[in-house]
Amino acid sequence: MQVVYNAEVVLTEFGIPLPARALIDGVWVDGGGRERPVTDPGTGMELAVVRDTTPEGVDAAVVSARRAFDGWSVLSVAQRKATMEQIADVIAANGDALARVETMDTGKPFAQSFSDVKIAERYFRYYGSSAENFFGASIPINRNVQVTTLREPYGVVAHITPWNAPISQLARGVAPSLAVGNSVVVKPSELAPLSSIMFAALVSSVTPPGLINVIPGDGVVTGNALASHPGIDHITFTGSVSTGVLVAQAAAGNIVASNLELGGKSAAIIFADGDLAAAVKAATGALIRNSGQSCSALTRFIVHRSVVAEFSRLLVESVERLSVGYGLDDPDVGPLISENQRTRVFGFIRSAIQQGATLLTGSAELPDRDDLHDGYYALPTVLGAVTEDMSVAYEEVFGPVQSVMVFDTEEEAVRIANGTEYGLVAAVFTSNIAVAGRLGRALQAGQVQINGYIGAGAEIPFGGYKRSGHGREKGFEALYGYTQLKAIVTHIPDRVVS
Ligand code: NAD
Repeated sequence: MQVVYNAEVVLTEFGIPLPARALIDGVWVDGGGRERPVTDPGTGMELAVVRDTTPEGVDAAVVSARRAFDGWSVLSVAQRKATMEQIADVIAANGDALARVETMDTGKPFAQSFSDVKIAERYFRYYGSSAENFFGASIPINRNVQVTTLREPYGVVAHITPWNAPISQLARGVAPSLAVGNSVVVKPSELAPLSSIMFAALVSSVTPPGLINVIPGDGVVTGNALASHPGIDHITFTGSVSTGVLVAQAAAGNIVASNLELGGKSAAIIFADGDLAAAVKAATGALIRNSGQSCSALTRFIVHRSVVAEFSRLLVESVERLSVGYGLDDPDVGPLISENQRTRVFGFIRSAIQQGATLLTGSAELPDRDDLHDGYYALPTVLGAVTEDMSVAYEEVFGPVQSVMVFDTEEEAVRIANGTEYGLVAAVFTSNIAVAGRLGRALQAGQVQINGYIGAGAEIPFGGYKRSGHGREKGFEALYGYTQLKAIVTHIPDRVVS
């Protein structure tokens, strides 16, 4: 087990003063809040200490972002693109260190962290180029009225991010915000803030002061001060539904647009003619990625009765081949983020079994291995005979737990799939094009995948229906989300011939 107990060595190499702190207006600022130890979920050991940012620090960050906006928003698209490319370059050049720290901070296997860093790099390149082809419209009225629309930046955009994929979530929101002329203030999760602070260190050498401010801190003090700050013009929040409600209320208080990327309980429907191997790959991938702690994970497999035994057998075989271990050793599955999260996950497994589900593989107990004792590990688990009334079928578990459910008719499958308050992603496995076409429309989710599953990448628009949130990240679509539309109406009188 390749254990590194102290991320502070890496932070120091990046020029970050300790305890790690906020980058405001291009300089490291002691945020004035409490010192917060950050833990390696793979060992339970302290990794680094971070200083929280007080509301005064939040205010300084917003004021600085406003100043930076004035200069940044008037640059040409080509000038902004050049800076976006530089940001991508510094991420790429430091990919290994960023990924190592991301793994220590979140527990996720190194290959996953490295892939998240590559995605972060990609967001900056993708949006730098996309903005060059982003423009308004010309609307035909009559020869005396010419209407053109402009897409203008909001101003200062706040980004409040979760712990499960910190560097890629940060880049997902910050890159399109900057591309169209906004400045940003980012508050990472207090559970995994280190890669965001490293990102601040990297970009400070290639961006104007105040364009990107990063302010570590908790939700109640720092997050709330940012969300309710009157100097913010737009908020993107990624996290739980309950916090999303608070952020939306804060945004409403200032009549500020918000983008809410919340939880998920995504379903996959497998028909008798579906590709079982592809479905098993998708189900296993959902357990692997962030140890199942992904909003977009497919966690309910609704399988036609005629193939449910075969699908379950193949899935169990696949899951039992997975290795569980310390992130830097690059296993298939790392630990969960915290002891609390693990207790919650075990609670879902136990209650499902009490309610009649079958434990096909996995456990609601601590793994029986000496090297896993001190971290927050849980074994990948598959539950069979799950029914709609079980909490595991409709609540977000956020752990390596897969539920297998049964259906007989297409209508029943759609009803079960749509039967939760969430609507982030859905999938369908069938070789019948008519069924695929019908379900693509019938499923209530912001993204429906047919005969496979890809979660990463910058290009595919992503966001929620129902309580999974509103607004869209990723793809060209995000550029609309980070701009406001202005219609310019020019009146052109006819020439008066005297
Ligand atoms: P969380 O809601 O607890 O915290 C998210 C962020 O909000 C953190 O930075 C936290 O400090 C901050 N926060 C907490 N209280 C706040 C307040 N009152 N005001 C302002 N900010 C506050 O979520 P989490 O546990 O970090 O993340 C897990 C959740 O995130 C899951 O529900 C998951 O589905 C969701 N998620 C969604 C997406 C998506 O794109 N839809 C992506 C990843 C995670």
